Amino acid sequence: MPKTYPVYGRIDGPIAIIGFGSIGRGTLPLIERHFDYDADKLVVIDPDPAVHTWLKQHGIRHIQMALTRENFSRVLCEVFAGGQGFCVNLSVDTSSLDIMKLCRSLGVLYIDTVVEPWAGFYFDTQDNAARTNYALRQAVRDEAAASPGGPTAVSCCGANPGMVSWFVKEALMQLAEDTGRAGPAPGDRAGWGRLMRDLGVQGIHIAERDTQARRLPRPRGTFVNTWSVEGFISEGFQPAELGWGTFEPWFPENGHGHETGCRAGIWLDRPGAITRVHTWCPTPGPQFGFLVTHNEAISIADYYTLGDPARPEYRPTCHYAYHPCDDAVLSLHEMFGSGVTQSRHEILEPDEIVEGIDELGVLLFGHEKNALWYGSRLSNAEARGLAPYQNATGLQVTSAVLAGMVWALENPMAGIVETDEMDHARCLEVQRPYLGPVEAHYTDWTPLTNRWELFPEDIDEAEPWAFRNVLAS
Ligand code: NAD
Repeated sequence: MPKTYPVYGRIDGPIAIIGFGSIGRGTLPLIERHFDYDADKLVVIDPDPAVHTWLKQHGIRHIQMALTRENFSRVLCEVFAGGQGFCVNLSVDTSSLDIMKLCRSLGVLYIDTVVEPWAGFYFDTQDNAARTNYALRQAVRDEAAASPGGPTAVSCCGANPGMVSWFVKEALMQLAEDTGRAGPAPGDRAGWGRLMRDLGVQGIHIAERDTQARRLPRPRGTFVNTWSVEGFISEGFQPAELGWGTFEPWFPENGHGHETGCRAGIWLDRPGAITRVHTWCPTPGPQFGFLVTHNEAISIADYYTLGDPARPEYRPTCHYAYHPCDDAVLSLHEMFGSGVTQSRHEILEPDEIVEGIDELGVLLFGHEKNALWYGSRLSNAEARGLAPYQNATGLQVTSAVLAGMVWALENPMAGIVETDEMDHARCLEVQRPYLGPVEAHYTDWTPLTNRWELFPEDIDEAEPWAFRNVLAS
């Protein structure tokens, strides 16, 4: 008997998928499974000729072009002339904000997985403060504040940013239960902030270990990753960034705050992909991660802030601590060492991966049980059995896109939202069948454990989880 899947709703108008790389290709089968829509109204917009060949073989309409600042309005107005529909933006090099605004003006639902700028922004912008995710995110938040309500546009709904915000809430409920404070889930943002504060959480690492690998060693001169190489290089060259918690007793010498906006984050004068932090995941235990900037580092710190944003009573530290697949670590090493971006890019295909999992979770630290990791430990082998065309990393992202689309259909006039503001229980209900084991693990490890005593470091013994100790020297 063929497996049947829940159909979550009907999309009446056109569906436009912008960008058909690793995430677009993996999202398509989930849309096909879980929504009722007219197949002839689905169109993919992507300039890549290889995408054209693939879509032709699968009988899917394709507009073979790159969206630009100049053409996006004309192209999307034509696509959506056929009625209200859904714009699923999974492309690099297209402005999330511009496309989201246009969609809302047309009454079209919108979702993306990152606040992406137009091509050129990441490397042509000279001012590092302007190149931060803080700046990119704040522009979307400003638009949300200036134009509240209206057609739903879900900002940054992938695995991270995205799903991890739902994990933070699940982890808080778990921690409350395990510390004898079980109660109903808070009903609003301030309630969640109070719960996190009252549980004594000082901060959160988005702690990820990707162990997916193929049999062949990485060829020199090739950047290998498990998702967009272009996307990873762009964010890896942005300044390291983190949500800056109220418990931090020290401020980094190369750190900078912001004078406007939510004030929740700071950035460092150093690319994130060569800034290492001490962190912890269930499989490796203690490990190095890279402090790559991500929207969720700011959004989570912002969402859980209590009091005046400029002088908060409480705010957690929050940042990404990413150990990508080993081939990607070697690729970064080669790229930063040589100062040259590799000309060949490869994304590990599900069929060539011979081992490994993507272990992606949130590590809530500093509370009475020290630290709790809560997340998905999806293997590539399991992912292959769950949905086609994607590895474990891809499925964690595309299933979050699915959940975000379901939530948008069920809440079509919610305005511009981030995943922190969505119903995490409903979203995880939709997503969970695709996440493999979702587990909670406590650890007694802290950034002061297992230091190399032969080389004494400048650490703060009194505050184990201080960023000063987390940041590797
Ligand atoms: P990819 O590099 O595999 O594919 C990107 C696709 O976009 C390519 O097919 C390319 O031809 C197309 N494209 C490039 N410029 C375009 C333009 N101007 N108009 C239309 N299409 C264009 O990337 P991916 O792995 O599929 O990732 C897609 C996006 O999702 C990236 O922005 C990435 O950062 C983001 N992402 C988010 C998460 C998350 O968890 N939030 C995870 C992975 C990827």
